[in-house]
Amino acid sequence: MGRLVMKFGGTSVANLDRIRNVALHVKREVDAGHDVAVVVSAMAGKTNELVEWCRDASPMHDAREYDAVVASGEQVTSGLLAIALQAIGVQARSWQGWQIPIRTSDAHASARILEIDGGELISRFKDRKEVAVIAGFQGISPQTGRITTLGRGGSDTSAVAIAAAIHADRCDIYTDVDGVYTTDPRVVPKARRLEKIAFEDMLELASQGAKVLQVRSVELGMVYNMPIFVRSSFDKPEDIDPHGTPPGTLICSEEEIMENHVVTGIAFSKDEAQISVRQIEDKPGVAASIFGPLADANINVDMIVQNVSEDGKTTDLTFTVPASDYGRARDTINSAKGKIGYARLDSATDVAKVSVIGSGMRSHAGVAAKAFGALAARNINIRAITTSEIKFSVLIDAAYTELAVRTLHTLYGLDQV
Ligand code: ASP
Ligand code: MG
Repeated sequence: MGRLVMKFGGTSVANLDRIRNVALHVKREVDAGHDVAVVVSAMAGKTNELVEWCRDASPMHDAREYDAVVASGEQVTSGLLAIALQAIGVQARSWQGWQIPIRTSDAHASARILEIDGGELISRFKDRKEVAVIAGFQGISPQTGRITTLGRGGSDTSAVAIAAAIHADRCDIYTDVDGVYTTDPRVVPKARRLEKIAFEDMLELASQGAKVLQVRSVELGMVYNMPIFVRSSFDKPEDIDPHGTPPGTLICSEEEIMENHVVTGIAFSKDEAQISVRQIEDKPGVAASIFGPLADANINVDMIVQNVSEDGKTTDLTFTVPASDYGRARDTINSAKGKIGYARLDSATDVAKVSVIGSGMRSHAGVAAKAFGALAARNINIRAITTSEIKFSVLIDAAYTELAVRTLHTLYGLDQV
C-alpha cells in the first residue's frame, strides 16, 4: 500500500465521459489499497476561453480579477470528478486551492507555491479512506486572502507540490501522450519514448520547448526528489494492472538510471526572436548599456554572441529574446541608443532554437562539434550558439527546424530501430 498523486490534464477531463473514465482510473488505484489525491486541470480549451473573456472585458484588466476568473475552470472539474467518483462508490471530496490551503506568493497569474498543509488530507485518508480531488493551477495569497493562479500549465506544479506535502510515493501525470519522447514524435516519427529520464535532463527539455510538463513542476520534483511518472489517460482503466509497470516515462534522480546515453533528447522552439545591434564602439561597459535596460524591462535574454563588425573596427552584439517580448526589446534598445551608441539595429523573428540535451555530455568531449558538422553538411546556417554543461543550443532559420531536429536525432543515435 502506498500513497499516490494522480494528475489529469485538460484533454483527460474534456467532457463527462472522459471524467467518468478518469474516475475508473482512480478507483483502480483505490481498490489496490492506495491513498489517492487527484489533481485536475480545467476541461481542454476552457482556460483559453476564460483568458479571452478577460481580454475582451478589458485589455488592461486587474490581475487579481483575472485569477478569480481563470481559476474557475478547475473548480468545475474537481467537483464533477468528486461526483463521478461517488457515483461509482468511491468516497471523494473536492478541494479548491484556498480550502487546503495552498499558500502562494501574491504574484497574480504567475504565483509561486510557498507552503501546503497536507495534514488534513492525510488524516482523511486514515479516518475515512477518502480520495481528495484537488483543483490544480490555483492557490491563495495569505497576505491578501485572494485566489491566485500559478501560470499556464500550472496544475502540473500543483500536483508535484501536493505529492511532496503529503509525502506521496509517486506523482503520476496522466496526459494525452504515453510519456516523454526523445523529441516531438510529430516532427520525428522515429522518436523513442524514454523509460526513465533524470530530473536535470527533463528540466532542460521542458525549458527548451518540450511541452509535456510545466518547468516549475520538474524543478519541484528535483528539489523534493519526488518521482514523476508521465503516462497516458487514454489507456483503458480495466486493462491496467495496478501492480504492474504500465507504459510511461519515469522522471527520477540520475542515480536510478542505469543506462546513460550521452544525448537524451532534442527540443526546439520557434518562439524566438533575434536582435543584432550593429557597429558599437568596442569598449568596457557596452554590454551593460544594452542588457541593463533589457533586464530593467524584465526581458529575458537567452543567447548572446559578440563579434567584429563589417568595418573591422567596431563590434556587433547579437542576442535572442522570447518572440512575445520582441517589440518591447526593440523599443528598449532604440530608446537607449544615445547611451549605447550604435549604427543599426537588425532583427529577425523567423528563427528557431534547437537544443541538444544530455547529462552524459558532462563526461564526453566533442558532442557539439559533431552537430555543427552535420548541420553544415545539410547547408543549415548557424546564427548563434550557446552551451552549458549538459546542453547546447543553435539558432537557425525557422524554415530548417524540422530538418535540423531530424538530422541531430539520427546523428546521436536516438532513432527508434
Ligand atoms: N488549466 C490551466 C491551463 O490551461 C492549468 C493547467 O492545465 O495546467 O493553463
Ligand atoms: Mg499541461
